[in-house]
Amino acid sequence: MEQYRNNPRNEGSGVFTAVPHRSRCPFKCEGCAFNEGRSYLEPLEETLPNVPEPREMRYRVVCINDWHDSSNSHLEIVQGMRGYPLRFFNTIVPYFLHEFDAPVVLTLNAREDTDTKFWQLEEIPANLMFVRFRVNTWNIKLLWQAVDYYTGTRRVPLILDWVEYPKVSAIPTGYRKYYKADQHDGRRIWRVWFEEWRRVADLFTDDILVYTCGRGPRRQDRLCRNCGNCLREYFATRERMLAVMAKAEGPKLPQRQAEDLRHARWRDRLDRGFRKGGVQEGCDATAALL
Ligand code: SF4
Repeated sequence: MEQYRNNPRNEGSGVFTAVPHRSRCPFKCEGCAFNEGRSYLEPLEETLPNVPEPREMRYRVVCINDWHDSSNSHLEIVQGMRGYPLRFFNTIVPYFLHEFDAPVVLTLNAREDTDTKFWQLEEIPANLMFVRFRVNTWNIKLLWQAVDYYTGTRRVPLILDWVEYPKVSAIPTGYRKYYKADQHDGRRIWRVWFEEWRRVADLFTDDILVYTCGRGPRRQDRLCRNCGNCLREYFATRERMLAVMAKAEGPKLPQRQAEDLRHARWRDRLDRGFRKGGVQEGCDATAALL
């Protein structure tokens, strides 16, 4: 395995990326730089798995699988990442959210759903950090519906994440005027104009739970240290989780003890899941971290 590389976007932010899988993400969302050979980890065959040294992450937040999916080999990933005390997961699959033992980000409209539908969670688990919506200039109506669903009575933060397209043919003809060609690690991509990016962000200025991933569409605008959404929501989610744990164990139990008990239960449930044979192949969740 090559030396660990952090995502350049995270530099100086206190967040480090981990991709514990050995292969490309099987979901292959359109516009995903990781799957389209545009990521900072290329060539993937040589760099995966890409995980930081746990001893250096004791006081740093580890973002697991922002370039992959934590529901792929789910149980193995959850167990394998316990070496990072401050961690959160990313997924496009809504079925295992409550089984992650840390905060989790759910992408609402991945793959072919991007322009047509989004996951509508009936119950909001305490560890849901925020929901991520893949935006383009022709799915704004769907975005309004998602904002209405999540930030209204459910009070879940929603982050707008603009999709970049490697081919102009993926953009409907009438919307190409809002995009311009740019370079990403030597490859051509089509990225929304700043004016359109700003116009869409401004639609939601009255909703304090809607944020944008980064401060603009260009690469230099998308540095995490200038944004801070993930750190803010990570710690807010931990507070919610701790409150739920303390409540579940009764008011007299000290918080730390409640947390330990809760983690023991998680472990027990996960172990039972393993015994049922729920582990898929294709992943190396860095056994060294276990
Ligand atoms: S939301 Fe902000 S902090 Fe999180 S990945 Fe995007 S730019 Fe980084």
